[in-house]
Amino acid sequence: MTFTELQLCEQVQSNVRAAGYTQPTPIQEQAIPVVLAGRDIFGCAQTGTGKTAAFGLPILHRLHNEGPFRGGPRVLILAPTRELAVQIDESFRSYAKGLKVRSVVLLGGVSIRPQIDQIRRGVDIVIATPGRLLDVVEHRALNLSHVHTFVLDEADRMLDMGFLPSIRQVVKLIPAQRQTLFFSATLPREIRDLANSLLKDPVHVAVAPENTTTEMVDQRLYYVERDRKRALLAHLLEEDMDGSVLVFTRTKRGADRVTKDLMKVGLKVASIHGDKSQMARQKALQDFKSGRTRVLVATDIAARGIDIAQLPYVVNFDVPEAAETYVHRIGRTGRAGRSGIAVTLATPEDRNSLRDIEKLIRMRIPTVRDHPFEG
Ligand code: AMP
Repeated sequence: MTFTELQLCEQVQSNVRAAGYTQPTPIQEQAIPVVLAGRDIFGCAQTGTGKTAAFGLPILHRLHNEGPFRGGPRVLILAPTRELAVQIDESFRSYAKGLKVRSVVLLGGVSIRPQIDQIRRGVDIVIATPGRLLDVVEHRALNLSHVHTFVLDEADRMLDMGFLPSIRQVVKLIPAQRQTLFFSATLPREIRDLANSLLKDPVHVAVAPENTTTEMVDQRLYYVERDRKRALLAHLLEEDMDGSVLVFTRTKRGADRVTKDLMKVGLKVASIHGDKSQMARQKALQDFKSGRTRVLVATDIAARGIDIAQLPYVVNFDVPEAAETYVHRIGRTGRAGRSGIAVTLATPEDRNSLRDIEKLIRMRIPTVRDHPFEG
C-alpha cells in the first residue's frame, strides 16, 4: 500500500515524502482509513511502530479540509510524559508543514504564561500532559468545547502514573459527540474498562512489537490447576531456573499473594503494582536490577518501562486476557540478541486465550508434559 492510496491531501503526502517515508507502516495502513472515516479507534501499539503518524496524518488532513477556525482547539492529544508530548509535537510539525494548522504543547515544569499567550494567538491542536492541561483550563485560558477529535496516547502508562482522575476530568470538558483515538501498548483489564467508557463502537487495530519474540524466546506452557500454580512456580524457581525472573500476574492482589508465598519458601522477592508508592516501586526495581532480589512480581501496567538487558526468564503466572499483552510480556526476555525463556502457567479454562495468542504469534507454544504438578 502507498500513502497515495490512503487518500491523504497532497500537502500531507508531500510532507511524508520529505520525512523519507516511502510506505505506510502496518499501524498506519490499518488506522488511517478508519480515522478518515470518522470512527473511534482502540489501538494496541507501542511507540516506534509509526503510531504518531497513524493518527497525526488523518487528523491534519481533516483540519486542512475544514479550513481555518477561530473558536479554539479542535484536536486534543493527551500524553503521559513531557518527553512523549514533545515528540508528538515535533512529528506533527513536520507532517503539518505548509498547512495552516497551529499546535501548542502544554507541559508542566515550565512557566504557564507563554503557553497561555500561545493559546490566545489561536490554536488548532493542543498536545498536553493531563496535569498542565487542567491548570491551563483553571486559568480560564482554554475553551475545549469545540474539540472534535480526542487522542489518548500510551493510555496504560497514564493509568500507571495515576492520571485516571485527571483523564476523567478532561473528558467532562470536551464534547461527548467526538472522535476518540485510544492507544495503549498493553491491554490489561483497567485499560479495557477505560476504553469502553470512552469509545463508541471502536475499530480495533493492533500491531505486535517488532521483536515478535518467536525466534529469540524459548516458550513453554505448563497446564496446572489454579490452586497448584504457586507450588509449581516455587518448584520451577528452585529447580529449573537460574538467575533473575520477572513474574506477571493479572491483578494487584494476585501479585501480592504470589510474592507472599514465594517469600515463605525463602526466595528473595519483591513486587510492583499500581497500589505501591512510586518510591516503593523504584526501590523494588533497583533491587531487581542489581540482583539483590531475584524475583520481581509485577502487573502489566507496572512493568512498563522495565528494560533489563539480560533478563533470562519471564513467567506468565496468569495467561493474559489479550494476546498482545502476551507478546509484550515475553518481549521482556530475549532482548538485545540474547535468548530467553518464557514460561506460561495455564489452567484448562485458558484454552481460548491461548488459541488467540497462538494465532497472533503464528506458532504453537510447546507444552511441557509430565511435570510434578500436572492435573
Ligand atoms: P512513532 O511510533 O510514531 O514514535 O514513530 C517511530 C519512528 O518511525 C519515528 O521516527 C517516525 O519518524 C518513523 N516513521 C513513522 N512512520 C514511518 C513510515 N511510514 N516510514 C518510515 N518511518 C516512519
